[in-house]
Amino acid sequence: MTASPSTAKELLARLVAFDTTSHKTNIPLIDFVEAYLAEHGIESHRVPTPDGLKASLFATIGPQDGGGLALSGHTDVVPVAGQTWDSDPFTLVERDGKLYGRGACDMKGYLACALAMVPDLEARKLKMPFHLAFSYDEETGCTGVRPMIAELGKTLPRPRMVFVGEPSRMGVVDAHKGPVRWRVELTGRAAHSSMPHYGVNAIAHAGRLIGELLRMEEELKASTLNPRFDPPWTTMQITQIEGGTASNVVPVPCWFGWETRALPGFDPMTLERRLKAFAAEHCLPEMRRIAPESDIKIAATNRVPAYAADTQSGIVPLTLKLAGQNETLAVSYCTEAGLFQDGGAPAIICGPGDIAQAHTANEFVHIAELEKCLAFLGRLADWAES
Ligand SMILES: [Zn+2]
Repeated sequence: MTASPSTAKELLARLVAFDTTSHKTNIPLIDFVEAYLAEHGIESHRVPTPDGLKASLFATIGPQDGGGLALSGHTDVVPVAGQTWDSDPFTLVERDGKLYGRGACDMKGYLACALAMVPDLEARKLKMPFHLAFSYDEETGCTGVRPMIAELGKTLPRPRMVFVGEPSRMGVVDAHKGPVRWRVELTGRAAHSSMPHYGVNAIAHAGRLIGELLRMEEELKASTLNPRFDPPWTTMQITQIEGGTASNVVPVPCWFGWETRALPGFDPMTLERRLKAFAAEHCLPEMRRIAPESDIKIAATNRVPAYAADTQSGIVPLTLKLAGQNETLAVSYCTEAGLFQDGGAPAIICGPGDIAQAHTANEFVHIAELEKCLAFLGRLADWAES
């Protein structure tokens, strides 16, 4: 017995119908998944947010003796605002072998396949458990999965292997970069713009800091390259900037955002340390000579670790074999794989759909991709039985 694509399709239609845009609640979807699992006699464990508006769900199928294999995915989707869709994004529509809907590809298609496998998994004599690990707030910086990972080995079992189903066209992804985002806030002193020597220009000092970041970017381009990635270096970007109050006032406030996407093995905090040292040496003394209240705050607002698969766990050769692939891939998007691994659960990325369709208007997943995913999960179950 294997799960049928029509079951996966029906489940996907149900999942897509819940508008789980990251800033909204995902509880109705979690209620639905919990009820579906309960129909099959499976108990769910929720890891809710403090305000109760969102929750992760963890459920175990098969033996309840720890270890086992986890199927991990996020329930949230990116907004449809500003996008022109040919059909209602929250109604799954089938056309030409493709299923259209927000999240069909990223990544409710995988969740639907995992849920469609439940009766099949239950009917098997599994030697190790299968866990479902459904999270929230992935699209806003992989934040929702963290409290669930913190419970692994405590109130929840720690899986031996985690299969993250982000869209990879069922290719095997064993590495991605790690994004870190910072916010830099500068405070200067106001003065009439004709009397700049009485003021401290926050925008001018932001410019110096940005100049240093651009030098760092050039150095990164010229340093360690990893040809598995496109581009092959640790990237950096200034992403946002805002400052000043009027056209004739030396500006007091200025803030800017910057990010890096670090190659596995590169410590992104070296960039922060260098910028802080530059600020302390080249900006703050001059600023504070005129205005002691001047300040520069540099703080990371989000960090997802880069990911390179664990080579001891056997997860890479196993996944390659089950996926019928010869070689692994490295990608530029990020996932919860590195977080699971840092939590002691080796992870791999392999899921249906093409990342090129993720986040776009008329997002879709090929039905053939769901079929491939179900076949992959069936082979994984065979392996867990043997
Ligand atoms: Zn995703």
